[in-house]
Order: sequence, then structure tokens, then C-alpha cells
Amino acid sequence: MFDEKGIKMDFTYEAYVELIKLLKKHGYQIANYHNHSSCERAAILRHDVDYSLDDSLRMAELERSIGEGVSSTYFVLLSSDFYNIASAEGKRIVRDIHALGHEIGLHFDETLYHYETLDIVECIRKESNIMEQILEVPISAVSMHRPSPRTLQADLRIPGMINAYGSLFFNEFKYLSDSRRHWREDIKGIIEKGQYDKLQILTHAFWYKKEAETLESTVKTFVNHANFDRYKRLDHNIKDLGAIMAEEEIEG
Ligand SMILES: [Zn+2]
Repeated sequence: MFDEKGIKMDFTYEAYVELIKLLKKHGYQIANYHNHSSCERAAILRHDVDYSLDDSLRMAELERSIGEGVSSTYFVLLSSDFYNIASAEGKRIVRDIHALGHEIGLHFDETLYHYETLDIVECIRKESNIMEQILEVPISAVSMHRPSPRTLQADLRIPGMINAYGSLFFNEFKYLSDSRRHWREDIKGIIEKGQYDKLQILTHAFWYKKEAETLESTVKTFVNHANFDRYKRLDHNIKDLGAIMAEEEIEG
């Protein structure tokens, strides 16, 4: 599947594994935010969890199945409208991702705060402390969810934490992202040419599936499946839910 710029990259698990293999073939070690300096050529894998913990767990299992030290950092939102890391299920999933050998980081949404009146570094520290207490795993890296130009330029230094958008990882590393399910640059060509020794590769597990899908079908499935999830959860809370609404009445 080619996109409008002629970049060939399917959003499938198979294509993702191929990408990791391509990195290794061209001498990149899969590194993380803490050990990259010991690698001659380092590729840091990062996932921002914007919508779905389930998709992230599947991606985490896929990465684990590759073996050979492949692990990445999953940046999770504390305040998401789509998932809840403080619920029993949400906490279990994030801890499962961590137990598979991946790092958990804070995905920070600055729009929750009044930038003008608050110390944004303190807000990040506050959220990471809360996240550590909820999840009971160490949090020592942060990435920004839809950062403003101001935050991108700020090169924020957070005591005890790595800032994935700090000048080291954003400027000295070549940053490649599949935002909105679209690689803006030819990632495979960049890896093959080997012009950069340090790569930070951001992918969103949400877009990757077992079989190739269109962007439209991934979004529609996600939206429509939410009704089913909601029904199942209500079923655990309301006695005799079927007498009020039959399962067949779920739309989507
Ligand atoms: Zn995000």
C-alpha cells in the first residue's frame, strides 16, 4: 500500500516486525531513553497511547515475541477520555505491558493546565508521581500529547525524568512519526541510507492490525465496538440488563 508520497508501509504487525528487522540489518540497536549513548547506532522505539490500551498490549506482546532485546516505551495518558489507568482493567493492562519488558512513560496533555499561571514542570512531576502511585511501576520519561510550539521549543528539564521532546531526543536524534497514520518521511529509505546514527521512532499501536485495514475501517471499528464494551460493562453493574435492553439492540 503506497500513500500519496509513495511511501510504502503497511500498518500491520507483519510490516512493523519488518521495520524492526530492517533497523537491525542496518546496524541499529534497539535502545531506550536511558541506554542509547552506549550504542553506536541507536533506534529508540516509542508508542504514544492516545486511544487504546488493548491495542498497546497487543503491540507490546508482538515486540516481546521478536525477542533479541526488542523493547520500547509506552507513553500513557493519566487523563484520557478513552481509557482509565486507575480502573482494575486499565491498571492490569499497563502493568502487563511493563511486565513484558517495556518502559511506561507519562504522556502529558498540557491543555489541562493554565500554562500562564502554572509551573509546567511541576505539573509533569505531579502527574508522574500520581501515575507511579497508581501503577506501582517507575515513571522516568515523559512525552507530550499534541505539544504546543511553546512546549516544543522550551527544552523542558524535569528532574529525574527524560523529556522525549527535549533537544537531545528531538534535535540530535532523527525523529520519525506515524502521526495520523501517515509517515511524513520515507522511513525505510532513511533506515537503508543510514544517514542518521540516532533515531527516535514514534508509532501509535492503534493503527496497527493483524490484517491490513483502511484508516476508515480502523476508526469505524473502534467507535462501533465501544457500544459493545459499554453494554458488557453495564451488564456487570445492572442486574437483568437484558430485560431492559437486549444485546441484539447494540448498534455498530
Ligand atoms: Zn498523544
